[in-house]
Parts: sequence; C-alpha cells; structure tokens
Amino acid sequence: MKDANSDISGKSAHPNPRRATVMHCPYCASENLWPDPETDNAWECRDCRRVFSVKLHGQLPRGV
Ligand SMILES: [Zn+2]
Repeated sequence: MKDANSDISGKSAHPNPRRATVMHCPYCASENLWPDPETDNAWECRDCRRVFSVKLHGQLPRGV
C-alpha cells in the first residue's frame, strides 16, 4: 500500500520521508519524541510512553 506521506515533495527533516515530522506529542505536548525503530513511520513519546504516527491526508485547495 502506498503511503500518503510519500507524495510530499521537497526536503524532509528526517531521512525517512514516510515519517511525517512532528514537533510535539499530540497527546501530552511533550517534545521528547523519538523515531520508533519498530516501524517505518511511527514516533514514540518518552514522556507519556505512547507510540503514534501522523498521516497527511492531503491539502485544501487554495482560496479556502
Ligand atoms: Zn506524549
């Protein structure tokens, strides 16, 4: 299955382009985030111990 994040062009902040860059944990807002070694695109929050991934579903058209 093709990952939606693979369609994003441009430079990625992370060497794995399928892993969307996340600045804060969506659950506890911690910045203590690390790439999850078990998966291609997940992050682990070392404060609340959650493992999650962020999926880009697309962009709104201009002018909205
Ligand atoms: Zn967290």
